[in-house]
Amino acid sequence: MSLTNIETFVHPRTVEEAFAALGDHATPISGGTDVMLRNPKSSTTLVDLMALPLADITESATGFSIGANATLTAMAEHQGLAAHLRGVLPEMLVHVGSPLLRNVATLGGHLARGRLSDVVPVLVALDADIHWYDGGHRSGPIARFYESGTHTTRMLITGVTIPAATGNSAGAFHKFLRTFFDIALLNAACVLRVDGAGAIDSARVVVGETPSLGVRVDEAEAALIGGPPDPGAFAAAGRIARDLVVTRSDSRASAEYRSQLAGVAVERCLAKAASRLEVAS
Ligand SMILES: Cc1cc2nc3c(=O)[nH]c(=O)nc-3n(C[C@H](O)[C@H](O)[C@H](O)COP(=O)(O)OP(=O)(O)OC[C@H]3O[C@@H](n4cnc5c(N)ncnc54)[C@H](O)[C@@H]3O)c2cc1C
Repeated sequence: MSLTNIETFVHPRTVEEAFAALGDHATPISGGTDVMLRNPKSSTTLVDLMALPLADITESATGFSIGANATLTAMAEHQGLAAHLRGVLPEMLVHVGSPLLRNVATLGGHLARGRLSDVVPVLVALDADIHWYDGGHRSGPIARFYESGTHTTRMLITGVTIPAATGNSAGAFHKFLRTFFDIALLNAACVLRVDGAGAIDSARVVVGETPSLGVRVDEAEAALIGGPPDPGAFAAAGRIARDLVVTRSDSRASAEYRSQLAGVAVERCLAKAASRLEVAS
């Protein structure tokens, strides 16, 4: 723990006040599970974000809005989110650390870290937008937020929106890890939608912890469109992911091993999503 250098703890009430309090020696803190472990030594001020009115999760005809201060537990327990795309969010969230961690860890704090995430691949697969404040309110697709490096700039994440599901669609998450309480060696998230004739008309295939945060495998998605949701199609999509997803070696796994995992994770993830689709009567 490195909080001995903290001299000031401020509790702003608005996003604008919180942003104004940031600076070279001030760190925002939400649940604190990460800040407590790795707060920079140069930081002398903590800007507590938990008094900001950003904890609500709301559902409307267009989808969901999740405030940055919503805890991972609140997300897992929200009935609408839990049912969305047949349970992909709670399926993933139960794999994030422990119940104690999820009770305090917030969505905003999680996304601001920009590393080691089970949450990001699922949000990419769900076509989520992220919302942030950097002197003005901004929003955009979550994948672009990381690609552009916005998470490394001075900004405050204010929330995430997820579009409503359409048609006969379902999602799934798959995580390879060494022990249950572990960061992923690799993870995958997918969403499938089938048309009235039973052919796939929309697909999202995302691989994470490669160790990049979550990349869509466009070629695998394209290969699935127009065909039936069957094991042959999922095996083919898995082979595409194995061959195309760029993997790197780190202390957890070699790049070669991760490539194999990418193929298996995508195949299993798609099979799980397909098993949740409504069966035509
Ligand atoms: C023991 C342990 C196990 C874990 N296991 C997993 C796992 O299996 N899978 C997984 O995906 N993750 C895992 N994590 C990561 C965990 O999900 C994050 O630590 C947590 O979600 C961070 O949320 P927080 O609210 O506590 O963030 P904080 O610690 O408050 O903040 C994290 C970072 O974000 C900044 N910040 C906070 N809020 C905002 C905001 N609204 N806008 C901008 N910047 C902000 C802070 O300055 C800090 O840099 C694990 C963490 C721990 C400690």
